[in-house]
Amino acid sequence: MGFSRHDRGDLVYFTIPAFENTGLVKSCFSTRCGGVSNGIVKGLNLGFSRPDSRSNVIENFSILCNAIGIKIENLVSSHQVHGKNIRRVTKEDRGKGILRSSDIKDTDGLITDHKDVALTTFYGDCVPLFFLDTQKECIGLSHSGWKGTVSGIGRETLMEMTGYYGTEPGDVIAAIGPSICRDCYEVDRPVIEKFKGAFPYWRDLVVPRGKGKYLLDLQQANRRLLLDAGIPEKNITDSGLCTRCNENLFYSYRREGSNVGSLAAILQLI
Ligand SMILES: [Zn+2]
Repeated sequence: MGFSRHDRGDLVYFTIPAFENTGLVKSCFSTRCGGVSNGIVKGLNLGFSRPDSRSNVIENFSILCNAIGIKIENLVSSHQVHGKNIRRVTKEDRGKGILRSSDIKDTDGLITDHKDVALTTFYGDCVPLFFLDTQKECIGLSHSGWKGTVSGIGRETLMEMTGYYGTEPGDVIAAIGPSICRDCYEVDRPVIEKFKGAFPYWRDLVVPRGKGKYLLDLQQANRRLLLDAGIPEKNITDSGLCTRCNENLFYSYRREGSNVGSLAAILQLI
């Protein structure tokens, strides 16, 4: 089924029909289209640490939140560091990292079973992982770049949901959001060495290009992680979208450099 694209005037965003159809959540992955930012981050930049004004970023969040029907006050985000730490958040955390400062440091994944708490994570090519336990009615959202993938942040997110909420992986639906595709993601041997250690089937994820360069399939690696953790194959939605291939839709760190605008994933129980 994939992700579903929505166009509202200049604004473009994606939702996940498999999630929306449960009636339990609202889901979103942003694009660069439709915001008020200018310059290198022109469009719907959602990153506060970018060359952009705070008021522009807040305005961009307002535009997106209005369209998807989530209150901006509900958003919660963390300081992402390409680690594997997960934080359980509640209603008391709402606003952190968006409307007020966040004390959620060193954290790349968020989970909650509270309604109206909108988990928010940021992206520039890394892989967004969405989780919904349809039985225990709890959610998770995590940021999985190559380091997070090697340390298995997708598996960690599920384990934390199991620890706090009693989640069984068979009850979970998951989605892999827009992120860099294999053909766009060239890495050096040290990265591949890390993957060898983490994935016995690493050869399935890699295409050698010679001279110490490899193409790495981060999306597939994360899909395999979720399958290994017990999520049924039929429960996993893949966006099939590459942030680097689709220049008109997405910001991309690999394509545009570190000052590029930031995309966001949002997931909220309703
Ligand atoms: Zn690509």
